[in-house]
Amino acid sequence: MSITNNRLSKEQYEKNFADIHPPFENKDAALVEANRCLFCYDAPCMKSCPTSIDVPKFIKQITTENIKGSAHTIFSSNIMGAGCSKVCPVEKLCEGACVYNLMHEEPIPIAKLQRYSTELAMEKKWQLFTRKQNTGKKVAIVGAGPAGLSCAHVLSREGIDVTIYEKEKQGGGLMTYGIAAYKVTPQFCKDEVDYILSIGGIEIKYEQELGKNITLEELQKNYDAVYLAIGVGLARQLEISGENMEGMVDAISFIYDIRNNGFSKVPVGDKVAVIGMGMTAIDAATQAKRLGASEVTMLYRRTQDEMPCTQVELDIAMLDGCKIIWLAAPKEVIGENGKVTHLVAEKMKLGESDASGRRSPVATGETFTIAVDMVIKAAGQTPYQSLVTTNNLENQNGKLKVNHSLTNIKGVFAGGDCVNGGREVVDAVQAGKDGAKAILDFMLNVEC
Ligand SMILES: Cc1cc2nc3c(=O)[nH]c(=O)nc-3n(C[C@H](O)[C@H](O)[C@H](O)COP(=O)(O)OP(=O)(O)OC[C@H]3O[C@@H](n4cnc5c(N)ncnc54)[C@H](O)[C@@H]3O)c2cc1C
Ligand code: SF4
Repeated sequence: MSITNNRLSKEQYEKNFADIHPPFENKDAALVEANRCLFCYDAPCMKSCPTSIDVPKFIKQITTENIKGSAHTIFSSNIMGAGCSKVCPVEKLCEGACVYNLMHEEPIPIAKLQRYSTELAMEKKWQLFTRKQNTGKKVAIVGAGPAGLSCAHVLSREGIDVTIYEKEKQGGGLMTYGIAAYKVTPQFCKDEVDYILSIGGIEIKYEQELGKNITLEELQKNYDAVYLAIGVGLARQLEISGENMEGMVDAISFIYDIRNNGFSKVPVGDKVAVIGMGMTAIDAATQAKRLGASEVTMLYRRTQDEMPCTQVELDIAMLDGCKIIWLAAPKEVIGENGKVTHLVAEKMKLGESDASGRRSPVATGETFTIAVDMVIKAAGQTPYQSLVTTNNLENQNGKLKVNHSLTNIKGVFAGGDCVNGGREVVDAVQAGKDGAKAILDFMLNVEC
């Protein structure tokens, strides 16, 4: 057993990492699906979309071959509509609410139709929005992820000049750095950021980190308002012995390497354990399998009823051949010559319900050991606690506290994962819109 790269042939990698939700084969295929839409008067799909995209309207526009209008409808509510069409867990959002489900028929493929219109708009570089006259106001945004970009686009449309300070070398946030390679490619993420910026009035200053290269006081002094969209933060540690051995990796770094270094260059174990059962854990497990690991075992300390991922995501992992062990928590990592060889896990049982109504896992004292050469940690992220406390920002365990997007500091707003603790891209896009609205109210008393 060993961790190595280049386990598969080039063709096999390409097959394993092909687009998991491929587009329509042709216009007719899109039209057939668009024409199935019942255009429900109460549009449950629209109500279940966090950005309230007018789904029946954009689908109707596809049926009349008004693709530009359809893309405009989507982007007016969600400027990352192209990315969302590839990454949204639609089974629990728009498509999960489609009335066809009640008739036990396939729901309208809303995301695929959304992709049909938005990809064409990006490919043709349709400029669907114009900026209002310049107001002379300036806003600083920290973080060029979905929340920051969405906030910037709304503000730019309203004639505000925006400067985004981003600590990485590229924009897109976790969309660029975290989401699985079979959902979005690095090139798509770059194109999406460029498309958003093409409206003008938004400048991204890369490799500029709040707390390192810039301070909040400087931003407050130089801009009319500040929007913090810094995301959740760093990978959570397991706090168990052996955690620093070779072969222990965190899921976000693992996924990042796959996306940025190429499939054949990313080392993967032969027997891999993945800790966690969220979307990140599923992405890490399925990608480890697709990189050529012979065995991938996922461990989760609760049961299937409490898992944070959706059934569709769990099915992907199971179809890829990943093994699931419920009610098991990592206890110790054992190794030889500094390299992981075994994972000791403790069996759990469910105890009392916590404040959110979820039953808490309780250790039973009984353990079991599995042979592994790699352990991927996907047990969530911890917020940038010191950054927020140093800046006197009111927070709960590092998550920023806001009231209608406003933090406890006048003129400083926040939204996205840094406030909600980590949800989906589409939630961050909506948070960015809410933030922009609050900033406009604050600066100009303008409703947008
Ligand atoms: C592994 C993984 C897989 C995921 N898969 C999906 C998926 O399939 N579908 C889905 O909808 N959602 C998915 N998500 C969740 C989704 O990516 C996030 O909810 C979304 O990106 C949050 O957007 P955001 O703008 O709030 O934060 P982020 O995307 O985290 O962006 C924050 C930005 O701020 C920058 N930043 C941070 N600190 C500073 C600082 N001090 N100074 C300057 N810049 C800073 C960061 O570099 C980053 O660019 C996934 C998340 C992870 C971790
Ligand atoms: S943004 Fe996501 S949830 Fe909203 S309609 Fe599109 S695919 Fe569905």
